[in-house]
Amino acid sequence: MDVRIEGLTPDEQREVGQNVLLTTLEQIKAWARSNSLWPLTFGLACCAIEMMAAGAPRYDLDRFGVIFRASPRQADLMIVAGTVTKKMAPILRRLYDQMPEPKWVIAMGSCATAGGPYVRSYSVVKGVDQIVPVDVYIPGCPPTPAALIYGIQKLQEKICAQAKTGKKKVTRS
Ligand code: SF4
Repeated sequence: MDVRIEGLTPDEQREVGQNVLLTTLEQIKAWARSNSLWPLTFGLACCAIEMMAAGAPRYDLDRFGVIFRASPRQADLMIVAGTVTKKMAPILRRLYDQMPEPKWVIAMGSCATAGGPYVRSYSVVKGVDQIVPVDVYIPGCPPTPAALIYGIQKLQEKICAQAKTGKKKVTRS
């Protein structure tokens, strides 16, 4: 935000503009949250291998502040990576409910997005958004680690945008 103070000379005004930053508490919180996303590990099938690769040194998700957690109590992001079976669905929902607010969900891959190659199977949920609200959908079978990183960056943008508008919207990366 540009800072303008009455009665200052142009030099003083430029000095203030270069050294004083105004923002809102909501925007600072959104900036901090979006740069310290802690996902709950939720690898369910082959997509999880790509999620693990994204966390390994070559792609290094840590550099975006993304640190995987094993407990839902410490997580604010659920990356659903793989096929969600009807047997697994209630467990997924319970873990989601155990995560503290604010929290977000990424559906990684065509299985988590819409059932994928198992869309005709009696035992598979046709999209994890039938169980939990999804913020970002990442297409692919499987999506690459780079696609997951792109999806996380879209979620970061969305968290910052929500702080400005107060509105939530679904993103397809
Ligand atoms: S989308 Fe493809 S790669 Fe991912 S879990 Fe389903 S079948 Fe496996």
